[in-house]
Amino acid sequence: MDFQQIFGKPPETQASAPGRVNLLGEHTDYNDGFVLPTAIPQSTKVQLGLSSDSQHHFYSENLNEQVSILDINHTPSGFASYIFGCIQVLQTAGYTIPSLCVYVKSSVPMGSGLSSSAALEVATLRAVRQLLNLPIDDVEIAQFAQQAEIHYAGVQCGIMDQMASSLADTEHILFLDTRTLERRVMPLPEKAEILVIDSGVPRTLASSGYNQRRAECEDAARSLGVKALRDITDVEVTEKLPEPLHRRARHVVTENNRVLEVLQGVSSVRFGELMNASHASLRDDYEVSVPALDILVELLQKTPGVFGARLTGAGFGGASVALVAVGEARSIATHVLEQYKQAGYNGQILVPSLELSDAA
Ligand code: ADP
Ligand code: MG
Repeated sequence: MDFQQIFGKPPETQASAPGRVNLLGEHTDYNDGFVLPTAIPQSTKVQLGLSSDSQHHFYSENLNEQVSILDINHTPSGFASYIFGCIQVLQTAGYTIPSLCVYVKSSVPMGSGLSSSAALEVATLRAVRQLLNLPIDDVEIAQFAQQAEIHYAGVQCGIMDQMASSLADTEHILFLDTRTLERRVMPLPEKAEILVIDSGVPRTLASSGYNQRRAECEDAARSLGVKALRDITDVEVTEKLPEPLHRRARHVVTENNRVLEVLQGVSSVRFGELMNASHASLRDDYEVSVPALDILVELLQKTPGVFGARLTGAGFGGASVALVAVGEARSIATHVLEQYKQAGYNGQILVPSLELSDAA
């Protein structure tokens, strides 16, 4: 079903925004640290029209679900909360937003760690900006999107996903200092492309593990007398901490240093080595990997054409990301997924997308 079929008239404008994958800098954002995401080819498209009654109407093609906002003082649940949130944060910022018909169609897999939520928010805000000619820039779009996700969808997220969706593209990586929002858009490493494979293992312990790691980092920063672990650059300083705080802090410090090394300009080979080191650090020091992810990452790392691989996202299941020789991602994925299957697991390629023509 398209916009016309749902709302009985053609859309007035449309915009899209990509999903993202984080290449380096994991579990650093809540330590005020550095991240290196890139956009993925899959994107979310949002089409808009003015509503002919006084209500907002939202439709998701992916969910085949329509929601009408009957009471503006009551935040809807589910996918509508993200769109409603975007409209409300714009209102709060002083912009008058008319009642809208919003149509969503996306090729970003939902809930796989490729940030379909940020893609939805950024695409919605871009479309509204275009419809109403709002004087807001791409950084403000990311900030409004984050506010929408925190205050309306109820997800305590950092700014990485929204900044990546708003500022990165598939040819570039976005260096972001999550404390100062200082950023730099850099080309992807030479002659390399991105391969993302889902491990097939659901992220069951993810939220309790995530909260525990956050608390450990706060403890470590307090013991070391700094505002956040980002303020430690010399890894030896972490040695005075008791276990496991020492290893948790060591991951954050070394991970930040890996991202900063990329900022100096590195080859694809070196970038890959840094990804491998990141995985070892996440596995041994931060303890957020699981056996399936370790097997998948190891299979990737020993396959010719792979510069480096690691788990991506918060861990405890979820996806792996690899930097591979350009043009070889699909054949590498086929090879690795076969061996992964022999080890008893069922993985799935997420990037490059198997659908040749993306929905958006
Ligand atoms: P991720 O951002 O990693 O994909 P999240 O749990 O943060 O996972 O966001 C997924 C949620 O975002 C979905 O459950 C849904 O509510 C919303 N969402 C994202 N894309 C769409 C879409 N195309 N249609 C409807 N809802 C969407
Ligand atoms: Mg999300």
